Amino acid sequence: MNDTPTLQGPGTLCPADGRPLDAVVPTTPDEVRAAVEGARIAQRGWGARSFDDRAKALVALGRRMLETRAEALRLLRDEMGRSDADSLMAEIASMAEFAKGVVRAARKELGVERVSLSRLDFPGKRARIEPVPRGVVGIISPWNYPVLNLVKPLFPALLAGNGVVVKPSEHTPRSSVWLARLVNEVCGDGLVEVVQGDGAVGALLVESGVDAVVFTGSVSTGRKVARMAAERLIPCSLELGGKDAALVLRDCDLERTVAGIAQWGFHNAGQNCAAIERVYVEESIADRFVERLGAFASELKVAEGDGAPADLGPLQNARQLEIVERHVEDALAKGAVLVTGGERTGQGLGYRPTVLDGCHEDMLVMKEETFGPVLAVARVKDEADAIRRANDSPFGLTGSVWTKDLTRGERVARLLEVGVAYVNNHSFTGGAVPELPWTGVKETGYGVAGSRHAYSTFVRRRALLTDGAKAPDPWWMPIDDTLADFGEALVGRSLGSLGAFLKLGGLLGKRVKAIKALASGK
Ligand code: NAD
Repeated sequence: MNDTPTLQGPGTLCPADGRPLDAVVPTTPDEVRAAVEGARIAQRGWGARSFDDRAKALVALGRRMLETRAEALRLLRDEMGRSDADSLMAEIASMAEFAKGVVRAARKELGVERVSLSRLDFPGKRARIEPVPRGVVGIISPWNYPVLNLVKPLFPALLAGNGVVVKPSEHTPRSSVWLARLVNEVCGDGLVEVVQGDGAVGALLVESGVDAVVFTGSVSTGRKVARMAAERLIPCSLELGGKDAALVLRDCDLERTVAGIAQWGFHNAGQNCAAIERVYVEESIADRFVERLGAFASELKVAEGDGAPADLGPLQNARQLEIVERHVEDALAKGAVLVTGGERTGQGLGYRPTVLDGCHEDMLVMKEETFGPVLAVARVKDEADAIRRANDSPFGLTGSVWTKDLTRGERVARLLEVGVAYVNNHSFTGGAVPELPWTGVKETGYGVAGSRHAYSTFVRRRALLTDGAKAPDPWWMPIDDTLADFGEALVGRSLGSLGAFLKLGGLLGKRVKAIKALASGK
């Protein structure tokens, strides 16, 4: 398989051992439109259910995912080539708790908000803000975490009362079908539909009547999706690429930092939008740090497709392997030092965990998203140098600072141009803490996944004002001298005149009388 990985279409081979996988049939344009209509019909009943009812179903769905995990793990092993333990921890084991967290974060946000109105200015009236489901949400997913990157928008979309049509990546089309089946068993038939195919099917989905779209993927596709959504005037949430930096300060706990950086550089073979790709380490500890990191990385095992425990999987597809190899070659040609790795494993699309030292900004590995098991280390003079270089990136997803001084860590973390900043950890909140926003700046896009702040994509806000007053409002027609006097008194009241305030009651009575006279013709 190593010599001919590109001869196969996306998603047709297991990347760990080259086994052929069952074919997945692409969805036709008519079927895409029918899927949106089907989800719309199912949404009517689901959207009418109470928040508590939907929340209960979501928690039950999380449990069903755990109960049926063997099926998901098999699909993830086939499509991602990871070990089962890796996939279990990366995408499945936390799902019941994740569902509970989504419910906790949303309860207030999806409740009815009462707006208090001044009794003097707005007599007899009450006002509320009510969340209304958008209708059908289109979710377009990438291939790197086929379950988790779907769950992140799927759970809040459902909890908010929407139907959903999912377009999984053509590289990893199968686990979405498992998840949609569970949703439809637990929440109601047809609530989640899956359409299959490449970018053309994704584009068709955006154009087929969905009421909002959540896109997770690359910057270039994100721009296209945003343009299509703008044309249709539908909300669009974008979760795009990253080139995350870790700042290793000289007062860090070296052992824990080495383990943490290896974890979040090599997790999922670095195919993580929030993987650590750039490491800025203070010169004074750089030799020891690089030596320990290299030793750690060289012990890690790449999965071989048999499900047995292994630290990371292969690259998911041949194109990604080609990008990783190109970035490493470019770095070495420009003077980087290979500490460990830098080659294929010889099995499937496996690539050894790689540490490069002496990296600088002219190298692709420091500029473009590598999305592979490669940690590029650059030595910096001091903290200020590290911050400046970390921020010198078109992306801004997450970033981390490693130091024993937590106050210093938080100060530096706040200076990073990112959506999610960590001190002494990295990346894990996206898949484990749904109460926190998962969001970025710059070309990472403006989407917010997670937390109560995610809901503008999934609900619109209806303002409902109910007027129980018997009398007409004093500002209604006719526009006459009594209205002019009333208006002047209102202005005087707002400017602090007690006299004007005391006059308001009498003027209000006059206004009501004048309006009633006009209305009754007397
Ligand atoms: P991609 O942009 O190639 O594809 C993503 C999805 O979009 C796929 O389902 C694809 O079929 C579909 N698509 C392609 N062209 C389309 C079009 N014109 N209209 C509509 N849909 C279209 O991205 P990818 O390679 O699958 O994913 C990797 C990228 O995703 C990386 O850049 C990674 O950083 C990013 N990502 C970001 C986050 C985040 O939370 N910010 C999470 C995971 C992945």
